[in-house]
Amino acid sequence: MALEPCNVCGSLNSDQAEICLSCGYPTQGRKRPAIFQWAAILVVLLIAIPLLSSLLLRLNQSPKSLPPEPPSAQRR
Ligand SMILES: [Zn+2]
Repeated sequence: MALEPCNVCGSLNSDQAEICLSCGYPTQGRKRPAIFQWAAILVVLLIAIPLLSSLLLRLNQSPKSLPPEPPSAQRR
């Protein structure tokens, strides 16, 4: 049985307690619904997939669209 600090008042409660014994606020972490995690994953996917696809498109197109490097840039 572990002790977790309350998010509101900071007093330690057992992780099996559903509400804080000091302020009565429901302890979070255990009670968080899984839908929040799925929503977070969905948001990340919605942001990451267009980014990744545009990056891949740019990587595939860059050798054709970009002009060849000038010789001055290659000499080092
Ligand atoms: Zn509290």
